[in-house]
Amino acid sequence: MASESYDLVIIGSGPGGYVGAVRAGQLGLKTAIVEKDPTFGGTCLNVGCIPSKALLDSSEHYAMAQHDFEKHGIDISGIKLNLDNMMARKDKIVKDLTGGVAFLFKKNKVTPYVGKGRVLSQNQVEVTAADGSKQILETKNIMLATGSVVNELPSVPYDGKQIISSTEALGLPRVPKHLIVIGGGVIGLELGSVWLRLGAKVTVLEYFDRLCPTMDAQLTKRMETVLGKQGMEFLLQVKVLGAKTGKDGVTITYEDQKDKSQKTIEGDVVLVATGRKPFSEGLGLEELGIEKDKRGFVLVNEHLQTKYPNVYAIGDLIPGPMLAHKAEEEGVAVAETIAGHAGHVNYETVPSVVYTWPELASVGQTEEQLKERGVQYKSGTFMFAPNGRAKAMGSTDGMVKVLADANTDRLLGVHILGPRASDMIAEAVVAMEFGGSAEDLARTFHAHPTLSEVLREAALAVDKRARQS
Ligand code: FAD
Ligand code: NAD
Repeated sequence: MASESYDLVIIGSGPGGYVGAVRAGQLGLKTAIVEKDPTFGGTCLNVGCIPSKALLDSSEHYAMAQHDFEKHGIDISGIKLNLDNMMARKDKIVKDLTGGVAFLFKKNKVTPYVGKGRVLSQNQVEVTAADGSKQILETKNIMLATGSVVNELPSVPYDGKQIISSTEALGLPRVPKHLIVIGGGVIGLELGSVWLRLGAKVTVLEYFDRLCPTMDAQLTKRMETVLGKQGMEFLLQVKVLGAKTGKDGVTITYEDQKDKSQKTIEGDVVLVATGRKPFSEGLGLEELGIEKDKRGFVLVNEHLQTKYPNVYAIGDLIPGPMLAHKAEEEGVAVAETIAGHAGHVNYETVPSVVYTWPELASVGQTEEQLKERGVQYKSGTFMFAPNGRAKAMGSTDGMVKVLADANTDRLLGVHILGPRASDMIAEAVVAMEFGGSAEDLARTFHAHPTLSEVLREAALAVDKRARQS
C-alpha cells in the first residue's frame, strides 16, 4: 500500500473532474485524478453529450439527403443507411476525445489513477484497482466529481435489450420498428430524433402536458408541433404503470391522466429517459457524515465545500442542472479557490440546449418563472421564417424570445427554437454575463445575412421596433 501525497485528489474524470484537474495543473497544484472506468471523460464523453451529438449529426445528414436535397436541386438516388459505419464513426469520435483527455493530463502534469476512489478521511483517498490492489493517496484537498447514473423507473425495469437506457440507445444494432420513449425531456427528444430520422416510428410518453417542462412553454409547444411534422408522436399527460416483455416486443400500460382511462401501447424497444440520479455509491460519504439531500445530491455551500472545508463536490453530484458545462465551471472554480483565487460560478447564466432540429436553447428565466416570481418584464419575439439566411438554408421553423426587465431593460432570459440555436445562445449568455440590456443586443452589429439577426430583431421587438416583420 504505497502512499503518495498531493495538493488535490479528484475522484471522477467527467467534464467536471477532468477540466478541474487541468485547471489545477495549470495553477501549479500537485494533482491526481481517480477514475474507475477504463476511459476518461465520464458520462459526457463516453455515453452522453459526444456520442449523442455524433449520432444526431449523422442522422441529420441522412434525413436531409432523404427529404431536403431535392429542394436544393440535388437529385440523388439509392440513399442507404449503413448503421454499422455510422456507429463506428461515433465510436471513433469518442475514442479520439477520451484519448485527448489522457493527453491533457500528461500535458498539465496531472497523475491519473485507474481504480475506484473512496474517501477515507478528509486527507486520504483510497484507490482500489480492478485486480483488488489498494493504494492510499494523501492530499490537502479532495474534489468529489463522481457524476450521475440513469434513474431506473421501478415499473419499467431495464433489461438492456428491449427496455433500455440512453447508453444502449446510443448503440442499437438495428433500427427499431417502433421505439417507445418514456420521458419527453432532453434525452427522449434527442435520441428519439436520432432513431426517427433513421426510420423508426417513435412515440414519446410524457407525464406532464408538454415536452421539456422546465423550458419556456411557448417554445416547447411550438417544438412539439415541429417535431410532430417530422413524424414524432406524443402522448402527453400519461402515467406509465408497467411493462410486459414478450418475444416480439414490449407492451406498456399507462393511465391517460385526462380521462383516467387505462391504455396500452406496443413497441419493439422502449427507451426509459426519465432523468438521472447522483452517483456516490461506495465513496465513503456516509462514514464521514457528508450530507446529501433526499434525492442523493451532495450538499455544498456557495464555495462548493462540503462540511469539510477542504472536501469539495461538483457537477451532477450536487444540486443544479445536470450539464457538462456547469460541471466544468464548477471544477475550475474549485481549482481556483484552492489555489487562492476567487473561484466563482454564475448560475444565472447557465445555458441549456436540446439538440433536436430545430434546436431549443435557453438562458436565464422563462416567462413562466417571471410570472411566478411577480417580476415586471417586457417580451420581444421574432420568427425565423422571414430571415434571409434561414430561408437560404431551408430551415425556417422556430422563433426567438427575449425577456427584459420592464423598468431597467436588463436581460432576464433568452429562448431560441431554431436552426443552430445552440451556437446562437452564446451571444445572449455573454450579454447577460455583462449585465446587458435588450437595447444592447438591439444596437449591436449582426452580420447579414445570418441567423443571429433573428435574435437582434427579437431584442428590437422588446421595444416594439422590429424592422424585418
Ligand atoms: P460524469 O460525467 O458523470 O463523470 C463522473 C465520473 O466519475 C465517471 O467517469 C465515473 O466513472 C467516475 N466515478 C464515479 N464514482 C467513482 C469512484 N468512486 N471512483 C472513481 N471514479 C468514479 N450535458 C450537456 O451539457 N450537453 C449535452 O449535450 C449532454 N448530452 C447528454 C446526453 C446523454 C445521453 C447523457 C446521459 C447526458 C448528457 N449530458 C449533456 C449531461 C452530461 O453528460 C453530464 O451533465 C456531465 O457528464 C456531468 O459531468 P460530471 O463530471 O459531473 O460527471
Ligand atoms: P429530463 O429531466 O430532461 O427529462 C425527463 C422527462 O421525463 C421529463 O420531461 C419528465 O417530466 C418525464 N418523466 C419523469 N418521470 C416520468 C414518468 N414516470 N412517465 C413519463 N414521463 C416521465 O431527463 P433526461 O432526458 O433523462 O436527461 C437526464 C439529464 O441529462 C438531464 O438533467 C439533462 O440535463 C442531461 N442531458 C442534457 C442534454 C443536453 O444538454 N443537450 C442531453 C441529454 C441529457
